[in-house]
Amino acid sequence: MHELVLKGKFLFHGEVLEGSVGVDRGRIARISRLPLKGEETIELKSAIVLPGLIDTHVHLRDFRERKKETVESGTKSALHGGITAVFDMPNTNPPVMDSQTFEKRLKLFKGRAYADYALGFLLRDNCREAVKSGADFYKVFMGSSTGGIYSEHFESDYACSPGVLSVHAEDPEVIAKNPERPPEAESRAIKRALIIAESLKKPLNICHVSTREGILEILERSLPWVTFEVTPHHLFLTKKDYERNPLLKVYPPLRTEEHRRALWENISQVPIIASDHAPHTIEDKKNGSAGIPGLETEVALLLDAVNMGLMTLEDIAEKMHDGPVRAFGIIGREFEVGGEATFTIVDLKKEWTVKPEEFYTKSKWSPWEGRRLKGKVVMTLIRGRVVMEGDEIVGKPQGVRLNVQSR
Ligand SMILES: [Zn+2]
Repeated sequence: MHELVLKGKFLFHGEVLEGSVGVDRGRIARISRLPLKGEETIELKSAIVLPGLIDTHVHLRDFRERKKETVESGTKSALHGGITAVFDMPNTNPPVMDSQTFEKRLKLFKGRAYADYALGFLLRDNCREAVKSGADFYKVFMGSSTGGIYSEHFESDYACSPGVLSVHAEDPEVIAKNPERPPEAESRAIKRALIIAESLKKPLNICHVSTREGILEILERSLPWVTFEVTPHHLFLTKKDYERNPLLKVYPPLRTEEHRRALWENISQVPIIASDHAPHTIEDKKNGSAGIPGLETEVALLLDAVNMGLMTLEDIAEKMHDGPVRAFGIIGREFEVGGEATFTIVDLKKEWTVKPEEFYTKSKWSPWEGRRLKGKVVMTLIRGRVVMEGDEIVGKPQGVRLNVQSR
């Protein structure tokens, strides 16, 4: 008899199987094609169990920007969107650039986070503090973005990074001359980062790749220690959408159809899809802030894409679970006996309309407002506990820090 049994369809090693998952003390105790007995049983009907999805690129603000987002609102938003763990970006106000601020950030998350989390540290000539911080990952901006702090010594910052380095690759010189950030700003920075990566042979994760040249360059070099992210907004929106709606300003910017198509043509080789969730108030957006919220729409958009035949359910698990686990060395999240019973449960047939006023993020707008999507996250479980069901967050904040190997 298990404490909990999930009965229905689940995605296991690339196949949708019908059966049961037995859960004891927060872990997967048994996976079986046959029925299992549980003190409690959740019958899933048409829904499908995926491994608990992870978003490796999230801006949760808080600190002095509680108006935009707090750890509470941001991690509730994550659970609502089917995201069981978030990677918190360190370009906060104040930025996480010294070990003391890192400690503050860690304290802030404890007892307040509804989803699990990994915390980042911003690198810029501050190696000693970086080592002292013991962060879960490190972030570097090659050119200026939100927060304005960027590295002028990318090579030495990368060389000293104590763990996986996530890089925002846009070239500062190109940006200075072309504030509209043309594709060359990205491709030039990616080329430079890859040349350095080739000699350093240290883990590098290139964020939000948005250009044809950028993705092709990464795939051509194919360095085993280099991973990269693509965002849903670069997959589903173009420059034309931005021209119609100035709120879609984002760094790197939305590109032309040619670039968008290049991302899709290479989708099978994209290791990570991440939202770059950037919650701004509508007022800040109208004043030109770059970034769009994405936690509550990303999985649904991908499910909609599955329904359109653009990708498979397995792709979602691969790019939002397996890819992040491999890139950052996350331990204990395997969808296997002994792994944590942390799941994202989706219904591919459920249709719904995006209504940002019903979202948990404080950023009450969405690029997809009013859009009808087919496919929805219906339930989220963390360590055997239902934490979101039918759009409602259930229970207290019980998120914990992810166990990241490189720490
Ligand atoms: Zn970002």
